[in-house]
Amino acid sequence: RAKSTVGQTVCFFESGMDESARERRKLAMVLRHAQERGEFELLYQPQRLLRTGEVSGYEALLRWHHPALGLVSPCQFIPLAEETGDIIVIGEWVLREACIEARQWPVQMKVAVNLSPVQFLQPGLVDRVRAILVECGLSPNRLELEITETAIISDKLRALHCLRQFKAMGVKVALDDFGTGYSSLDTLHSFPFDKIKIDKSFLLRAEDSPQALAIVRTVLALGRSLSIPVLAEGVENERQLRILQSEGCDEAQGYYFGHPAPAPSLALPKAVNS
Ligand code: C2E
Ligand code: MG
Ligand code: MG
Ligand code: MG
Repeated sequence: RAKSTVGQTVCFFESGMDESARERRKLAMVLRHAQERGEFELLYQPQRLLRTGEVSGYEALLRWHHPALGLVSPCQFIPLAEETGDIIVIGEWVLREACIEARQWPVQMKVAVNLSPVQFLQPGLVDRVRAILVECGLSPNRLELEITETAIISDKLRALHCLRQFKAMGVKVALDDFGTGYSSLDTLHSFPFDKIKIDKSFLLRAEDSPQALAIVRTVLALGRSLSIPVLAEGVENERQLRILQSEGCDEAQGYYFGHPAPAPSLALPKAVNS
């Protein structure tokens, strides 16, 4: 098995299935104790309104500092935690931590928290979120939950009920990674999402792929016709920003505006027109 370190993110390239399964089981066992050992950290990435340039909120992104492996990417350990069910406990830690930290920010900005489909399908989710907000003293309208379509397809009626309850509480819900997976017009039309996030893969290819650009345009048109604001993920340079501005995109997020960073550096976001 080859292990390579790209930036600070550890990736594994598995050769044998057996060894791979064994490795995963080992990683899952260590992951179980990561939170109590203080190995988790939340980073925050700014989201910008393109019309005014102001920061509308920050997305909380989980990091695992493994004592031996270094920084393990959420793309690796979130699926694992979903398999074992540990995502429920981890997700609750993320939600509580994000609410506690957001409460301490000098500005009353929104905090966006990713919810795994496994978490979303957990009975009593809405009550748990409500209880955590009360416990942390965070106003519900400062919380935005990011879910993917995977979370809603298995039980659409229940999902709709949850979304309505969140809406009634004042908690916002964004549809994450739109354009990948099970995206359907029906979902967009029947669920009261507060925001659509176009998956970063489209903007990252938009400059040299007419197809990717067409998808960005289509999602923007869709958002406009349904009156749902659209946020583009993965803005890495000025050219991509110009595309979004000329296509009338509402919000954007990406390395161009700021990498995910620990809470203390939140005060210094990059200006749109500087
Ligand atoms: P996501 O929710 O779609 O988050 C966006 C990902 O894109 C993040 O990766 C972010 O660091 C990355 N990103 C932001 N700007 C750019 C850019 O300009 N270019 C490129 N190439 N990438 C950019 P990250 O932090 O590695 O997270 C990956 C995924 O892991 C997230 O995708 C989300 O699905 C999941 N995840 C992260 N934190 C949590 C969490 O607390 N709970 C759950 N359930 N899932 C999480
Ligand atoms: Mg997200
Ligand atoms: Mg996303
Ligand atoms: Mg994603």
